[in-house]
This record gives sequence, C-alpha cells and structure tokens, in this order.
Amino acid sequence: MASDRDLYAVLGVERGATDAEIKRAFRRLAQQWHPDVNQDPAAQARFKEINEAYQILSDPQRRQQYDRFGRAGLGGEGGAGFEGFSGFGDIFDAFFGGAAAGSRRGRPQAGPDLRYDLRISFEEAVRGVEKEIEFTVLGRCDVCNGSGAAPGSDSSTCPECSGRGEVQSVRQTMLGQMVNVSTCPRCRGDGRIIEKPCERCKGDGRTEVRRKLVVSVPPGIDEGHQIRLSNEGEVGPRGGPAGSLYVAVHVAEHATLRREGTELIHEADISIAQAALGTRLTVPTIDGNEELEIKPGTQPGTEIRLRGKGVPHLRRAGARGDLHVFVNVAVPTKLSKRQRELLEELARETGENVSTNGRGGIREKLGLG
Ligand SMILES: [Zn+2]
Ligand SMILES: [Zn+2]
Repeated sequence: MASDRDLYAVLGVERGATDAEIKRAFRRLAQQWHPDVNQDPAAQARFKEINEAYQILSDPQRRQQYDRFGRAGLGGEGGAGFEGFSGFGDIFDAFFGGAAAGSRRGRPQAGPDLRYDLRISFEEAVRGVEKEIEFTVLGRCDVCNGSGAAPGSDSSTCPECSGRGEVQSVRQTMLGQMVNVSTCPRCRGDGRIIEKPCERCKGDGRTEVRRKLVVSVPPGIDEGHQIRLSNEGEVGPRGGPAGSLYVAVHVAEHATLRREGTELIHEADISIAQAALGTRLTVPTIDGNEELEIKPGTQPGTEIRLRGKGVPHLRRAGARGDLHVFVNVAVPTKLSKRQRELLEELARETGENVSTNGRGGIREKLGLG
C-alpha cells in the first residue's frame, strides 16, 4: 500500500528542491533504508516509500502533476476511465533498474510493476472465479519490436562509454585520486545509440496498448490479497523486460453472511415461542439455502455449526472452514392486546411477577399503580 505522506517530506527536502537535491536525498535515504543493509523490519516499507517518492519527484511531468493536484494528480495516469489503476503502481524493482543502481548499467531497464484493483462478489471469492480484465499499459512497440530503432536502421555501441552505460571521471584532490562513476549522458545508460529512432514510439521502444487478460482467482481468496502476474506489467524502455502486474482483490460484502478467514458466520433471529417450542430455520449458505432444525428450549447465543460449509483453504486443497449459525432470541418490543394477554397468562401460569399494562408490578402491588 502506498502511504499518503507528503512526497517531499518522505525525502526530507523542501518543495522547491532542485533535481540534484532530490537525487542526493534519495541516494542517502536509499543507502540507509535498503532492505539488504537495514535489518529493521520496517525498512522494506520505508524503502518502498522513499523509492516511490523519488520515482515521482524525479520525473518533471509527474512532479508537476503532484505539485498541482497532490496524489490525485497521479491517479489517472494509467488511462482515463480505468478504475483503480494507479499508473505507476507498486514499483518494487525500480531501485535496481533505476538510475541509482550500479550493477545494471548497460542493460535494458525493467519496466515498473503495475496494480489493478479487481472487485469480485462474496460468492466468487469463496468459489473462485475467472475474470477478464482489460487495461491500458505500455507494451513493446510492434513497429520496432521494442528496440526503439526504426526498421532497417540499426543501433550502435555508444562511443562515449563503449557500451558500458557509465562513464568515469578521475579528479585529483588533496586526498588523492577520486573516481566518480555516473550514468553515461549520451546513451542514458543503455550502452547503445539508436541511429534513427522508430517513428511510432519515438525511440522509446514502447507504446500504449490495450490488453485483455483472464485472471484466475483461486477459491478462498480474501479482501486485500494480491495475485501476481509476472511479465504482465509495463515493459522497460528499449527492450527492457516487463514488470509484474499485481491484481489486488476486493471482495463485496454479503447481505447475511460474514466472513472471518475460512469461517462463515450467520446470525439468525428467532422468537421466544420458536426458541421454547423449536422450529425450522432457513439459513443461507454459499451453496444455497439450507434447512436447520432448532430444538425446543434453544437458548439465546446458541451456536450451530455446519461443518465444511465455510470457505475453502487457499493453500490446503480440499479443506474448508465451517458455517457458524448464531441463534439470537428476539424479544418483541411491540405487543398487540391479544399477545399481551397471552404473555400475561403465561406469566401467571409460571408465577412470575410482570408489569401489566405497561405499569410496574411492584408499584401495583403496593397500591401505587
Ligand atoms: Zn518503436
Ligand atoms: Zn554511453
């Protein structure tokens, strides 16, 4: 989950910070919070937050949108009319593929992960379902096949960095030689120069495509679970591999069933007479309504358990939770004259002291009524 913190606050910079200041802050924080070096359990989330803030603030267009509209300005990036698609999604790998990484220079940068919010019904979550989803994504340009080079033209090794994607500069200082390694400005770290950019994608290797996918939602999935579809995220520029698509599942509520993990809960109201005399109840289950016998003398709060009528375990095939029916004895709040007479007669029969005609029995006995 992306946090709602102010992105500038996340990086600890002023709103008017320069690109260089933002980059410096990011590098410092990334080194401090990278989960490989920081054992703090919170490091991963913190690192992700830092990374996300940097991805947005280092992109002039996104930064401008954020400055003007806040997070709402970023929400619609993935394509108009596409609910819940965050556009940049959860970017887990960007640090490794991004400008700050040293190990991947000269190799194509991977595309970011994306997130799709999928809404399903209560029953679909229990039974499992196949859902077709459709969304707009940056996919490989089919004119240049992702290379970014116009068909027939070629790309050549970058003369500036000899294909390494990074350049070294050596400075003499008082303390000795200082070697500074930075991304090659000529090829932007790709290691190759495109002679004639593809006209369709302007040399980026990517174009927006409309994609349809069938997502297989397993039985037992619950609110907030994510399904990862690798290679279905955005592709990287100029032939970079695709990120993952994370399908975040949202489950609708049921009118009369509540769910806790693999257990289903139903609360049924019965009357005093039904509790005392017994009755038959119709209870909802995932597989349709079921008749349930309520024994005479059933107490309020009685639990009746329908074994195996709950939710399938996600990881244990064949195993299923139970349906718990809690019986609530509803006490009438309004009585007809006849109902009152019958209840008063019942009370007389059992020798109970009750209020009559809405007045207190004790007051009546004391002659105050
Ligand atoms: Zn192209
Ligand atoms: Zn270069």
